[in-house]
Amino acid sequence: MNIPTDGILRNTKKIYYNDQYLMSAHTKVARVHSEAIELTSTVAYPEGGGQEADRGTIELPTGVVRFIWVKKLYGTPIRLDGFKGGTLGGVILHVIHPDDLHRLDQIMEGMNAQVTIDIVRRERLTLSHTASHFLYAAAISLREELKQWTLGCHIKEASSRFDFFVEDSIRSDEVIEIERRANTLIDCNDVIRHCAVEGVEDARMWTYQGINIPCGGTHLESPLLIGHLNVRRKRLGKGKERLICEFPNAEIDVSRYHKRELP
Ligand SMILES: [Zn+2]
Repeated sequence: MNIPTDGILRNTKKIYYNDQYLMSAHTKVARVHSEAIELTSTVAYPEGGGQEADRGTIELPTGVVRFIWVKKLYGTPIRLDGFKGGTLGGVILHVIHPDDLHRLDQIMEGMNAQVTIDIVRRERLTLSHTASHFLYAAAISLREELKQWTLGCHIKEASSRFDFFVEDSIRSDEVIEIERRANTLIDCNDVIRHCAVEGVEDARMWTYQGINIPCGGTHLESPLLIGHLNVRRKRLGKGKERLICEFPNAEIDVSRYHKRELP
């Protein structure tokens, strides 16, 4: 995909930070790219921190186009401890479904647009992302060194996973203990907090029972809907392992999503 090279100074307004449950918003077209639309503001959460992107639609005077991915580009690095890889500002591109690309020729900058997300997918990703923090917190509490040897994570709708470098393999009994600790945290059913750090909008912290994890993703407000977490391990190669969690009893509740912006 061609990406903008026009000396970007623009920032897309990230409405999802103010209201995670806003599913639709009026906005305007900022740029039309070869395979994507950039809006002046959006409710669509871009791929980031391992969390997969939202999908949805953009309604324009010329018709409706579907977007299948959302990307954030041109942010500047967050210079705070623990926020490696995070960025401030940037533009957000809505990558258009291949079957709708022919419609891009009719779309002009400044056009009114209504962007709407697939809330079932968003809520599944939100639940999966929240579950991943319990997996991570439990793994780190058992093996502190994993924190510095985390290679990355992938938050999908039905599961989430972390990859680590390990000197000693994660044993089966350790996997069972990680699962036990993660479920103990979930069963506490405490309040999950998620807010910006030091007034920096893009530097956000997930907090639960004294555990603080820098993270800009979307999260549940309590762990109750996750249900029981199943944890398993996969060997990826010498010294490289994956911890995967699934949540077969999870309940997806989209009742908090709404169409109008909060006053
Ligand atoms: Zn998170």
